[in-house]
Amino acid sequence: MSSSKYEVMYTADQIAARVAELGAQINADYAGQSVVVVGVLKGSFIFMADLVRHLTIPVRIDFMGTKSYTGTTTSGQVQITKDLDRPIEGEHVLLVEDIVDTGLTLNYLKRNLEQRRPLSLKTIAFLDKWQQRRVDVKAEYAGFRIENKFVIGYGLDYEQQFRNLGDLCVLGE
Ligand code: 5GP
Repeated sequence: MSSSKYEVMYTADQIAARVAELGAQINADYAGQSVVVVGVLKGSFIFMADLVRHLTIPVRIDFMGTKSYTGTTTSGQVQITKDLDRPIEGEHVLLVEDIVDTGLTLNYLKRNLEQRRPLSLKTIAFLDKWQQRRVDVKAEYAGFRIENKFVIGYGLDYEQQFRNLGDLCVLGE
């Protein structure tokens, strides 16, 4: 895939500025509280690493791994490949997603985590493809609202490549 073409949608500098804003907003909204920040692997790993370094509230970090039973489109059949290390009952939980597209993955994860009785559960998505929703689910915080284009970089992959790009890019032919 090294010959694939891609164009920059948001530069690393633009992303860094937006992530700093999101961090400030979360610090304000959760002032005086601690939060369990749950990253959804693998796509959120870079966003989460940058975001948590802006947080001044006490945080505990955990991860979940998911897999959809699909090729290029999402079916909503989500499988948990890695579960949380510790219970979240009575905790404020902030779920960190790379991108919300149809919303099927987020919908599944929210229902799953809500059953564990957190004190609160909110979602922060780096990207929101808001026009694509097939279920009524939303992320309380979003970095950028984007059109329906397949994006790579800043943690997001195409066939497990390109996650290491610093810019967010649109994959071409
Ligand atoms: P949803 O269940 O909301 O349809 O899909 C969410 C997942 O689909 C994301 O976590 C991500 O793994 C994948 N996805 C959706 N759109 C894109 C995209 O534009 N680029 C990449 N790399 N992954 C995407």
